[in-house]
Amino acid sequence: MTKRIVAYSRLKPPHLDQLRQRFHVDYFEALEGADDPAFREALGQAHGIVGSSLLITPELLDAAPHLEAIATISVGYDNYPVDELTRRGILLCNTPDVLTETTADTGFLLVMAAARRAVELAEYVKRGDWRESIGEAQFGSDVHGKTLGMIGLGRIGAAVARRGALGFGMQVLYSNASPKPELERELGANRCELDELLAQSDFVCVTVPLTPETTHLIGRREFGLMKRSAIFVNIARGKVVDEAALIGALENGEIHAAGLDVFEQEPLSPESPLPHMANVVALPHIGSATHETRDAMAQRAVDNILLALDGRRPISLVNETAWQPAG
Ligand code: NAP
Repeated sequence: MTKRIVAYSRLKPPHLDQLRQRFHVDYFEALEGADDPAFREALGQAHGIVGSSLLITPELLDAAPHLEAIATISVGYDNYPVDELTRRGILLCNTPDVLTETTADTGFLLVMAAARRAVELAEYVKRGDWRESIGEAQFGSDVHGKTLGMIGLGRIGAAVARRGALGFGMQVLYSNASPKPELERELGANRCELDELLAQSDFVCVTVPLTPETTHLIGRREFGLMKRSAIFVNIARGKVVDEAALIGALENGEIHAAGLDVFEQEPLSPESPLPHMANVVALPHIGSATHETRDAMAQRAVDNILLALDGRRPISLVNETAWQPAG
């Protein structure tokens, strides 16, 4: 029997071809939402799902009684009910590692852009406002030699910290679930409590996954602990931060500036004040969005689903306990 796949993120022809060589593929290039009747019908027969950015609920899983595996084209899996998938014996595969360096580049881009006011001042040139030598009103802050506070020192956090410590001579503080002695040796990083990190860092960068424990991890109290000169960078997930508190902290001068790739609501609401603030660099969730990295992520997802539906261990498995080797 040919197994069936539902794919709903934009996939390039080489990736779709690999899937079509092995499976019947129902491909939804621009899926509007999970209520699409054709999508629901395809789910009813699907053994595998390949996609990203769709909230997968237990109710949606009920509509997919034959499902064996999901390959998300992302490292984050906050859109998936992991325990429920495991309970049903459905494998969840993600795409770690292949996006680490690109996402860290985005993190450092935000550090630099916010500190040197690159977007604001590029707009100033574009508007034709550069009519004489710039003065203090256009000055920014140094990055090199400052203190970088990493909230989360996993794959991406370590890659950002490496850029800071080795490229910019920064002192690295980190707060993370577990200690990272190898990174402490490599980068001279120091682990500390979150409150101490917030109080001492010039740049605070968030790279923890979104979980019940990290939801609104950074709120009014935490912004209040930061230096007034602090620059806050979020490349993790919008909901890790209480966005109303962030807006308040920026408006009241409790922190100096922010560089944001992710938001509580995406796409960002037109009503949000964030993109209109001069001291905010706002990007449309581009962390991993380069041609090379998105191709590598799609290929990893394809490889994962090919292996999983073949009864072999996928390369990147989120719910290890759902894996039952044959024999
Ligand atoms: P990772 O390697 O799993 O790193 C996450 C780190 O966070 C781990 O070191 C983990 O600690 C730590 N952590 C987890 N819960 C924590 C808590 N409650 N308090 C303190 N530390 C905690 O994941 P990654 O590959 O670096 O990716 C991190 C996140 O970045 C993803 O989950 C995703 O949401 C986000 N992301 C965003 C983009 C984008 O486009 N902006 C792109 C890729 C990823 P342990 O080491 O002790 O487990």
